[in-house]
Amino acid sequence: MKQIFLATALLLAACSNAPAFETQGPASATESTYQAQYHNAARAMEAVGTLASEQFEGRKTGEPGNRKAMEWIEAQLVSLGVSPPRREGYRMSFDTDAPDDADRTVEATNLVAFIRGKDEASPKAIVISAHYDHLGIQDGELYPGADDNASGVAALLETIAWFQAHPPETTIIFAFFDKEEYGLGGAEHFLEALSEGERGKIALNINLDMVARADKGELYAVGGYHFPDLVPLIDAVAAKAPITLFRGHDSPGWGDQDWSLLSDHAPFLQAGIPFIYLGVEDHADYHKPSDTAENIDPAIFARCIDTIILMAEAADDWVAKR
Ligand SMILES: [Zn+2]
Repeated sequence: MKQIFLATALLLAACSNAPAFETQGPASATESTYQAQYHNAARAMEAVGTLASEQFEGRKTGEPGNRKAMEWIEAQLVSLGVSPPRREGYRMSFDTDAPDDADRTVEATNLVAFIRGKDEASPKAIVISAHYDHLGIQDGELYPGADDNASGVAALLETIAWFQAHPPETTIIFAFFDKEEYGLGGAEHFLEALSEGERGKIALNINLDMVARADKGELYAVGGYHFPDLVPLIDAVAAKAPITLFRGHDSPGWGDQDWSLLSDHAPFLQAGIPFIYLGVEDHADYHKPSDTAENIDPAIFARCIDTIILMAEAADDWVAKR
């Protein structure tokens, strides 16, 4: 585990022109109560409870429960009033192999929305992503995927709400990916559907996958090893985040705990696009029927979402100044 050097981080934070957010800071990261600063924590927990409920049947790609989840997220985008990228709406569907049967083709759907940056002359964009699919029902057992990744979806919806009220400098694209669990297909399709010129405009991907179960009060920011320019940005956020934010899990030294290629940020990395993946370490309920909403500590989850919004704000500044 690589701890950041706090003194350096504090120094960087002091030099930064980022908006002066008031946070409770890392020192209080273990307190059991927490007042969310930048989002609606009750709404986020409710979203996780809904997506992890039986009606969505574990959200497996190609299954009716997955489609219902997609329609539910789409309804949230409509009610947030965020713009779709095309007249046809938020859906970007694609054909893909069925999760357990390569001979069968199913339709998968990414949902994409965006908020135009205040700097209209800037061609750059940030993509913030979270996958909504999960493992479905196996041997009659529901895999609710509350942390993996209803939590990321809920956090992304809260991030949209934040930027609707606080417009970013840079255009931000919000992508809810399908088919992550079975091959990162949603993120791959998203990038393949863009022209080379459009891909070249993506300055950064922030990927959210498992952002609720920071049981030890620790969240990881992955990507600094591949893109060292991101290190000061990550450290400045770590210095003021209401959770302990470590850098790591992104270099060969981590062995099988190198997460560089393990979620939807991988196709961005492979395309040479800088990324920050935010996620927690594997826990006892990872990919188990016990990954339920009840096993999420709402105070920890709220700290993670505030940290995600701090990171998105700082990243907006970072991209705008480059
Ligand atoms: Zn996941």
